[in-house]
Amino acid sequence: MIDFKNLSPIDQKMLGAACHFSGWSHYRVKVGCVLANHGKSILATGHNDLPLGVEDPEGALDHQREMRRMLMQHAEANAISQAARHGIATQGATAYVTHPCCAQCAGQLVCAGVQRVVHFNMRMHPSWNKNLELSQFIFSKNNIECVSVKPQPNAYTKHRRIQRFDAKGTNMEPMVQAALDVFFENEPA
Ligand SMILES: [Zn+2]
Repeated sequence: MIDFKNLSPIDQKMLGAACHFSGWSHYRVKVGCVLANHGKSILATGHNDLPLGVEDPEGALDHQREMRRMLMQHAEANAISQAARHGIATQGATAYVTHPCCAQCAGQLVCAGVQRVVHFNMRMHPSWNKNLELSQFIFSKNNIECVSVKPQPNAYTKHRRIQRFDAKGTNMEPMVQAALDVFFENEPA
C-alpha cells in the first residue's frame, strides 16, 4: 500500500477527481471513478447510480438494500458506459477509483482494456472479502498494475463530506482541489 503523498502529481489529481465524482452518487455509498489516458486527460467519469431512465425521487430504495444492490450500476461500469456512449476508446487507460473494485467491475475494466487501477484501500464490509479476492485474481491474470493507496486517518468520514461540493459551479479544477483539501485535511496535496 502506498501513501497518497508518494503518488505522482497526476495520480493525486485524478484520484481527487474520482473523490469529487463520488459525491454525485445518489445513495449512502459514495463511489467515484475516473478513466484517464496516458496523455493525462480524463476520458470518462462514473459514480454509483441507478441505470439511465430509472429514478427514485422519493429515495424509496434507501430502505430496500437488496433491490438497490440489484439495480445499482457501479462507478467503474458507469465510467466505461459513458466512454462507450461517446465512442471514446478506453484501451490502455488508467482507472482511478475511490474504493477497491468488485469482481464484476474488475472484469469489465479488464475487458475494456484498462491496464492500470489506482484506488483507495477503503475499509469494506467483510461480506465483500471474497468478491475483492476475485477482483485481485482477475487483475493478476491480466497483469493489471493495481496501486492500493492508503486512506488518510478518518478518510471515510471526510470522503462523505465531499458531497457538499456536488453542485458548486462547472469549473472542475477548484472543486477537485476542494475535494482534495477536504479529503486530505491533515496532509494537503
Ligand atoms: Zn463494482
